[in-house]
Amino acid sequence: MAYNRLIFELSSPGRVGFELTRQGFSSTDIKSSLDASLFRDQPAELPEVSELDLVRHYTKVSQKNIGIESGFYPLGSCTMKYNPKINDEMASLDGFRQIHPLQPLSTVQPLLKIYHETSTMLNQITGMAGTTLNTFAGAHGELIGLMIMKHFHELRGDSKRTKVIIPDSAHGTNPASAMMLGYETITLPSKNGLVDIETLRPLLNDTIAGIMLTNPNTMGLFEKDILAISKAVHDIGGLLYYDGANLNPLLGVARPGDMGFDIMHMNLHKTFSTPHGGGGPGSGPVSVASHLVDYLPSPVVTKQHDDSFTLSYPEKACGQVGGFYGNFLVMIRAYSYLRTVAEDLMHVGPNAILNANYIKESLKDDYKLVIESPCMHEFVFSGLKDQSSGVKTLDIAKRTLDFGIHAPTIYFPLLVDQSIMIEPTEVESKETLDQFIAIFKQIAHEARTNPDIVKTAPHSTPVGRLDEVMAARFPTLHYKALKNIHES
Ligand SMILES: *Cc1c(COP(=O)(O)O)cnc(C)c1O
Repeated sequence: MAYNRLIFELSSPGRVGFELTRQGFSSTDIKSSLDASLFRDQPAELPEVSELDLVRHYTKVSQKNIGIESGFYPLGSCTMKYNPKINDEMASLDGFRQIHPLQPLSTVQPLLKIYHETSTMLNQITGMAGTTLNTFAGAHGELIGLMIMKHFHELRGDSKRTKVIIPDSAHGTNPASAMMLGYETITLPSKNGLVDIETLRPLLNDTIAGIMLTNPNTMGLFEKDILAISKAVHDIGGLLYYDGANLNPLLGVARPGDMGFDIMHMNLHKTFSTPHGGGGPGSGPVSVASHLVDYLPSPVVTKQHDDSFTLSYPEKACGQVGGFYGNFLVMIRAYSYLRTVAEDLMHVGPNAILNANYIKESLKDDYKLVIESPCMHEFVFSGLKDQSSGVKTLDIAKRTLDFGIHAPTIYFPLLVDQSIMIEPTEVESKETLDQFIAIFKQIAHEARTNPDIVKTAPHSTPVGRLDEVMAARFPTLHYKALKNIHES
């Protein structure tokens, strides 16, 4: 793929896309009405291109992006599932788009009803008693969930609880959220990828505010001792927090509420098919068990005796956690998904699990499986089974790009050397899974017969191996700088 010229490089003086007819309106009119200090000394250096060139340029640029709509996206711990178009259609209805959060409540009753119904459905799915949709991301949900935990202990006058236990396999946001609330974090080492109750017990005492877990955990394994874990934590007065960012495998299978969890968050932008990444708006609803409902953030959408809805601000609420009541149009998309999938929701988890196991079993002769037992919705390889060629996980991921699919998650979870984490989700057909398996088998074959082609990949992308640290710390994002680089 060739280097795509920038829109500025396509510019030719005097070329224009279109021009508005200047009816009754000229730039001199505008100028005379504005303060002179606001004007530029020189005209802006804008690219001058025809409309067709412009359309072609941005169409080409958009095709350089790999997304779920251009190919398979097996990103572990991320649930990159298709976002059905009907969700967007629903969210763009005028009645949803053209409202203002400060409108009188009597004029937005149906919207409050949808909020209420969505949180009720999430209560049913999670086995919890109350859900807020006021949060803006998974990590934000964690922060608010832990605020509820803290608030709960403090309002009981229990100020000794300053620590939160987190397994070494946890998502990085878990310790980060706990630290932001001033908690000390204690890392719990896992055993065969699972929480070991005998390792946990000695850590439990009256300074523990709670434990943060994911089940299935980030190794894609179900914590089979969860009931014993939850009893042990509750016995010392701690609470259980469930990181439900990737709730997919549980849909129709099990509920965190039934496992003994007290607080959890979900990511609508993972499990419930709302757009994910690209800086778009997220939503990380927080659900709690009955003894914590009063602590949910305000405003709370409440159903009144006459079936109308109002906003309430309960006294014990942990505060207001963002503007108004969450990313409303994201919630509409999730609601649309839940209503569309309806009874089939119970097949989502089992199919996601089946797809992951199918890939795992098909590739385990070529890639090193960390844990042999059946996985849930995702699983982890530790590089190639035969590592004598020196081909590393990074090489495999880079080579995947040459086949037009997104690379899996790599080097996470941290406790596995050379980890490759694969999560196919339920939306992919068997044909797509077979194609992926064939590609991964081919890469393993290349590693044996022609390792250089893997070690020097990618060969078909606009750029090869970037300096990732420089790209993250000092990205070159503007034209002048880029021009200088080309000249030097
Ligand atoms: C994605 C994810 C998060 C964070 O969600 P954001 O919306 O990116 O903040 C937290 N925990 C787990 C397990 C995740 O996969």
